[in-house]
Amino acid sequence: MVDALVVLAPLAALMALATAGLLKWAADARGPLRAGTVVFLLMMMVGMLGGAAIYFAHPSATALVEGFWVASALMSVSVVTVFLAFLQEARSSPALGGDGRRPELRSRRPFVLTVIGLVLANELLMGWVFSAAAGTVLRATGGGALGGVDLLAAIVASPWFLFTMAIEMAVTTVLLRDRISAPMFRVLLAQSAIMFLSPTALASANWVALSVYAGSAAMIGLIIYLMEFIYRHRQLDPAFSHYVVALLAIFSAMMAGQFLWLYYGGWPVVFAASIVAEMALFFFAVLRYELFGTGVDRPWQLDPAWALQLLAFVFIAEVFMGALLDLQAEPGVYVGAFFTLPLTGPWTTVLYNATYNGFWFLAGVTASTWFLAMMGVEMGALLYYKFRESRDFENRVRILFTLGSYAAFAVFFPSIYLAAVFPNAPNPVTVPVLGWSMGIGSAQLAASVFGVVVLTYVVTGGLTVAFGRRVICSVFCTAPLMYQGTTIDAMKSFNRTEWPAKKYLGSRFSTVYSVTTGLVLASLALASVASYLDSIGVWSVSILSADPTVFLLSLYFGILWYVMFVTIPYTGNYNCVTMGWCYTGAIAQAFQKVGFFKLKVRDKNVCKACTTLDCAKSCPVGLVDMPGHFRTKGEFRSTKCCGVGNCVGACPYGNLYISDIRHWIRDKIGTRAVPPARARLPMLAPRPGAAGAGNLSTARAAPAVAAPALSPPVGATERAHA
Ligand code: SF4
Ligand code: SF4
Repeated sequence: MVDALVVLAPLAALMALATAGLLKWAADARGPLRAGTVVFLLMMMVGMLGGAAIYFAHPSATALVEGFWVASALMSVSVVTVFLAFLQEARSSPALGGDGRRPELRSRRPFVLTVIGLVLANELLMGWVFSAAAGTVLRATGGGALGGVDLLAAIVASPWFLFTMAIEMAVTTVLLRDRISAPMFRVLLAQSAIMFLSPTALASANWVALSVYAGSAAMIGLIIYLMEFIYRHRQLDPAFSHYVVALLAIFSAMMAGQFLWLYYGGWPVVFAASIVAEMALFFFAVLRYELFGTGVDRPWQLDPAWALQLLAFVFIAEVFMGALLDLQAEPGVYVGAFFTLPLTGPWTTVLYNATYNGFWFLAGVTASTWFLAMMGVEMGALLYYKFRESRDFENRVRILFTLGSYAAFAVFFPSIYLAAVFPNAPNPVTVPVLGWSMGIGSAQLAASVFGVVVLTYVVTGGLTVAFGRRVICSVFCTAPLMYQGTTIDAMKSFNRTEWPAKKYLGSRFSTVYSVTTGLVLASLALASVASYLDSIGVWSVSILSADPTVFLLSLYFGILWYVMFVTIPYTGNYNCVTMGWCYTGAIAQAFQKVGFFKLKVRDKNVCKACTTLDCAKSCPVGLVDMPGHFRTKGEFRSTKCCGVGNCVGACPYGNLYISDIRHWIRDKIGTRAVPPARARLPMLAPRPGAAGAGNLSTARAAPAVAAPALSPPVGATERAHA
């Protein structure tokens, strides 16, 4: 076996290099002669491998001869393509009466399809032949088409296919680097690395563990890169934007395939199909990139359908990656834990069981440590980028709190490592004040947990009264980490442009908002009462075999939250707040109504003359009515405001600040309550001859300021988020 590997591995590497060289040729081929030569050489490789396959299928002297003849026949046929191409080129020569112009391929599509087909055939044959030569003859496990599919999947999932293909892709990318854009070059290399790190390739527990962790890390890195790239480039090359969405769609299938392979102990069909799709996508990108789109760059913020696809495929990939990591890191908890009900029996039973399986799979994975850790790394990286560009000190501190809270309460406390660090601590799920459900929903609402539930609301309610609902909605909840990163924050533009998001603009409570919040709070009250009655034995009730409050928490935060997150391009950023469908937010909102939190401006006149209205544009909750309140009252108070503080950093005049209990206390004890301005307030148009013209006191003396005289500091508007 080791001897065979010593021969086979370099041979496979050589074939990968040769194929990469041929792909470069194919990418450069414009005339029939070069195209015919590429096809000829690829068919030669198919012939050689086909002949070898015949021999290894039934090793014997006869098979050796048959294999030789098949190889020779295929090579002979392939020579025809070169011969015909040569004739075509020769006919164009002036010596033979031609016009001297080198003929061009009439259409590249058949050529590209032929090349991709031949490369795929080569890889499949190579996967089978090299496996057989190494001692494993892959055979169809059953009869008919299904057996054939299983055989093809086993070949694709083998090291000889995956490693060779990954090397081929990487070398081709490097060979073609001069004709590929820099971001595309990075994406194609990352794709090659991710393909190389396929857990199905080697039947070794160490390899499976390494490839699951390293492959997930590579994919997370790629997603972070793509998201940040999209944020930095609001106008995207159409081909690149289509390629990215197609790649993410394939990655979601690939992660589903890896999960199913691991969960069902070696079923590689979905994974293999995604690998073939990824391979085809790669070859189309290097051979016919223009297929993905042409034309001028377009602003993705005007294309909600594209943004929806982007978020949906990232989310699907993440769910399955989270499930894969759960299985790999904690097999004792997760092996056999999903899809527990059989899909057999009457259709009503099948429907119920499918709903049950799907619901608890999704809710279980999205609440699991590894999913949340992975989301935390991805979205946390985007939030870190946001932190770097945030100029407001208070907001920077808040972002650090957000990152810390997520790491502590969403990842560390529910993780297996908590028990290692605090061996005597109770399971966090049974302690509502620690559980990230904010009280209700992590356990049955029995008399024994009333104390901690009440304590939860006393603590969070007190903090909300003092500092506003930002304590929950911008720090403690897992949502702010995901909503506020650069790219997702940029999607707040959809709040103002898309239906239904724009229906919820402003601080007004529309009828539909009030109905939604009312229904959500009623469902919480009903579930809590039912849960309590169940705990005292009065009413035995469960939903999908779970306590009503646990079901409700899973429904709202394990499923609905992510569905709404994916639909941000239509429902808007922070739609839990704008639409009022989150019961925790609705409760926090009630505390904020009686609290100290508000937004204040230093000078109303500055707002009166302001033409940028950057504060309103930067608001992720779409509170577009705030400048009007600043102009009339000098302050703005809305229970929808979740205190993200983008507006404070966006105001080009540094005119805005958040006021909470700290300012109230300072005001009472007579110390300075209004924080100093970060930036100099604007110069206002001086009246000719007026003393002190050009400072703020002039603005107060002359409120009817001409708007054009108020100009933001250079670069301030650009720095403000669109
Ligand atoms: S409204 Fe609910 S989900 Fe949204 S940020 Fe606030 S607590 Fe979190
Ligand atoms: S951007 Fe600043 S100056 Fe303009 S309305 Fe908003 S708070 Fe006032």
